[in-house]
Amino acid sequence: MARYVKDFSEGDKDQKDLLGGKGANLAEMTRLGLPVPPGFTITTEACRAYLRTGEVPPELRVEVTMAVRHLEDELGRRLGDFHDPLLVSVRSGAKFSMPGMMETVLNVGLNDASVQGLAELSGDERFAWDSYRRLIQMFGRTVLGIDADLFADALDKAKAGRGVTADVDLDAQDLRALVGTYKQIVRDESGREFPQHPREQLDMAIVAVLDSWGTERARLYRRKERIPDDLGTAVNVCTMVFGNLGPTSGTGVAFTRDPATGRTGDYGDYLVNAQGEDVVAGIRNTLSLADLEQVDPAAYAELRQAMRRLETHYRDLCDIEFTIERGKLWMLQTRVGKRTAPAAFRIACQLVDEHLITMDEALSRVSGAQLAQLQFPQFAPAPDGAADRVLLTRAMPASPGAAVGRAVFDPATAQEWAARGEDVVLVRRETNPDDLGGMIAAVGVLTARGGKTSHAAVVARGMGRTCVVGAEELVVDQADRSLTARGRTVREGDVLAIDGTSGEVFLGDVPVVPSPVQRYLEDGLDAALEAAPDDETRDLVRAVDRILRHADTTRRLHVHANADTAQDAARARRLGAQGIGLCRTEHMFLGERRVLVERVVLAADDTQRQAALDALLPLQRADFTDLLEAMDGLPTTIRLIDPPLHEFLPDLTELSVKVALAAERGEVDDGDVALLAAVRRMHEANPMLGLRGVRLGLVVPGLFDLQIRAVCEAVAARLAAGGDPHAEIMVPLVGSVQELRLVRERALTIMVEVGAERGVPVELPVGCMIELPRAALTADRIATQAAFFSFGTNDLTQTTWGFSRDDVEGAFFAQYTANGVLSVSPFETIDVKGVGQLVETAVRLGRATRPDLTLGVCGEHGGDPESIRFFDAVGLDYVSCSPFRVPVARLEAGRAAV
Ligand code: PEP
Ligand code: MG
Repeated sequence: MARYVKDFSEGDKDQKDLLGGKGANLAEMTRLGLPVPPGFTITTEACRAYLRTGEVPPELRVEVTMAVRHLEDELGRRLGDFHDPLLVSVRSGAKFSMPGMMETVLNVGLNDASVQGLAELSGDERFAWDSYRRLIQMFGRTVLGIDADLFADALDKAKAGRGVTADVDLDAQDLRALVGTYKQIVRDESGREFPQHPREQLDMAIVAVLDSWGTERARLYRRKERIPDDLGTAVNVCTMVFGNLGPTSGTGVAFTRDPATGRTGDYGDYLVNAQGEDVVAGIRNTLSLADLEQVDPAAYAELRQAMRRLETHYRDLCDIEFTIERGKLWMLQTRVGKRTAPAAFRIACQLVDEHLITMDEALSRVSGAQLAQLQFPQFAPAPDGAADRVLLTRAMPASPGAAVGRAVFDPATAQEWAARGEDVVLVRRETNPDDLGGMIAAVGVLTARGGKTSHAAVVARGMGRTCVVGAEELVVDQADRSLTARGRTVREGDVLAIDGTSGEVFLGDVPVVPSPVQRYLEDGLDAALEAAPDDETRDLVRAVDRILRHADTTRRLHVHANADTAQDAARARRLGAQGIGLCRTEHMFLGERRVLVERVVLAADDTQRQAALDALLPLQRADFTDLLEAMDGLPTTIRLIDPPLHEFLPDLTELSVKVALAAERGEVDDGDVALLAAVRRMHEANPMLGLRGVRLGLVVPGLFDLQIRAVCEAVAARLAAGGDPHAEIMVPLVGSVQELRLVRERALTIMVEVGAERGVPVELPVGCMIELPRAALTADRIATQAAFFSFGTNDLTQTTWGFSRDDVEGAFFAQYTANGVLSVSPFETIDVKGVGQLVETAVRLGRATRPDLTLGVCGEHGGDPESIRFFDAVGLDYVSCSPFRVPVARLEAGRAAV
């Protein structure tokens, strides 16, 4: 039994590990009895042996001999034969498709003798010499590493010498002369003759394909697509068939359904009298499959039948490469075809209706990333190369969507202009909590600094607002209300278009198409169907509805939302959230209310502090009452305040300048001077690791008490109003069980107090976030005081890696991704090996102490498709994410369960 070589008749589609994708599918088609040119596959195992030792395994040479002889006997032709030569193609084919990354050599077996045989056999001398010159050209470049331009230049020269512009206008004599020139190029550049021995050609071509696995571009591609480096490629050696043998020959690609729209019915392109490379190069206009039916009804009928066969067999959309050689159909390749997001949903449902797949399979055929794409309005495709679009810069896509509006440079102007009905894009060097009003008013947000978990990014994602961050090419002049980039200046009021999916920023208007799927998710099926412009859109909306409903019945994970206002909560609920997993109460103090927190934190004495707290209580009570009303009947986790102080206190530098300038003018303001002293006292060099979360709650008396009281009173008020509130109190940034114990004891006391005051029982679960490594590692102890854990994977990632979440992404993640340290930002997709291990540990320790402990996650990862799989696997009860991502989380949780 051969070890490294398998005949096409020996494998099947499930052997992609061994045969690569192309080889496995060629074997499958052979098994199905479809007309595949005979050939064999050199396995990935041979490649791995070659990569390990740097030598072609000796057994491989022997096995190739056996396979070639078998092929020769089967076809009655010989490699390199003078009369009736066998020619082969040598193609790469890895397990995962790496389009265009690796090498191919066609027409192997041609030499000075067999070119005559090919001419005889085909009755076409021109064709034979053209095939030979293609071999030398491809072999020279790929196998011998000769600069491709040398061959291209020689070809151009030959055409110029004959006064023609197209390759096809060169005749047999011209091509024969060109072969001579090409051979000279080979001699000059490689110091050797073009190998005449077909077996030497074959062996060298095989090695070149094996080597192409390790090229720089192939490595880069794998890193980007997260394909492991040690898989290796297979090599397919296949009998050549020719689509360029005259008008009854041709070559094409076909799809069993339209991969762009998902429309049923076959679809494809065909080129008469051409080879595969001509189709890809787009040199001539192609015919449709319907045209092929006219040109060659018999071959067309056979192709149709093969397509139906393949689709039934793979039970999915297939794409196919085929060649017709003098009326005879040959299948050169097939695979389950790539498709757009709308096509994925529509095709999955069509296949269910055709009873080819189950709903579970349909669910596994679509992805959260595809659903997310469908949720956003998009820029209309650019007409003809988009010459009318001026790309200003490309930066980090932080929150998807397409937004067009007038540039404004401060939140007040954003609000003012939006109030008068203008669409605005808020441009900031970076955003801070004071910008929130402006961000809400704007259709999009663009910042020059910051990464994917910067303030702008997190808040924008939470609101479903289009956002591009870290546009370092932009020089934003806030005072001048302008920005410059690539030599262009944009002033306040100029129109900008930002693409939060690609990170592109355009100058001027770009047309936008609204999302029918988002309409469905927000307003329901009937409204979306009514608003849909055509049948195809209606079909898409129905498909999304069916698959999402199936995900809901299948999934084990619950999906909650991160929401801070009743309005967001109501929206999350419409989008399918089953609770609020995180209400960030510090967000309730942004904008005008910020000074209230400032007063509590900076109060000089108890009286001042109490006054400030008293002012907050009614506001908070009302906030929570509204929130609980919006979430009536569903769990609502309210996190006690976690304000990184730099976001809430006045900026030290600005305040220092203000006081110094006032002193110079002799206009000292005692209030400012006192404030400056307090801000100096509280100033932190590393605020994300400073007086935050539970630390602040324990250090500043009264702050947590106030919030707990406000929640309890809101619960009492809702109960009195006949509601069904399910508030839970969550303590942030706990590192020690003692911290939680202190807060919990206060909480229990306040619950009893409020219960007595209002005459209703107020008993709320108290739990904590697990967002510090120490909390994860001591989760057994912490669980003694916690009714639930919620993993704060943003801070847990920050503290596990020691990466400042506000700074590192813009600073060096690009380099870290390029050099392979990171394949994706750990702030975006959970780092399973590191941070994930802490999550797993905390789950195990926590449940050991308290088997009924409720476990969830509320960091950004809660809405990330890949991370959701992990959270399902470690046994969390729910994921919580921004309202907009709730549908994606529902879908992915369903996919994780099938
Ligand atoms: C977290 O750290 O993951 C979290 C949800 O809290 P925040 O982002 O508010 O720090
Ligand atoms: Mg946190």
